[in-house]
Amino acid sequence: MTTPKLLPCPFCGGRPIRSQIGESWPTHIVRCSVCGVEMLGSDKELLEDRWNNRVVKQSLTTDMEAAQ
Ligand SMILES: [Zn+2]
Repeated sequence: MTTPKLLPCPFCGGRPIRSQIGESWPTHIVRCSVCGVEMLGSDKELLEDRWNNRVVKQSLTTDMEAAQ
């Protein structure tokens, strides 16, 4: 069983923390331990995927904006 690793926070580079609300229909949360930015999702793996993708897209967007 492999657990996908969460990338550092795209804003401050802080370490993300996973948590969960509810039991029957849990909402999964990934939150930065430093600046507190968070992302919610009902599917844990999808949420982690979105977090990691946002990290990548965030830096790409910044590069593109800087180039214009
Ligand atoms: Zn952060």
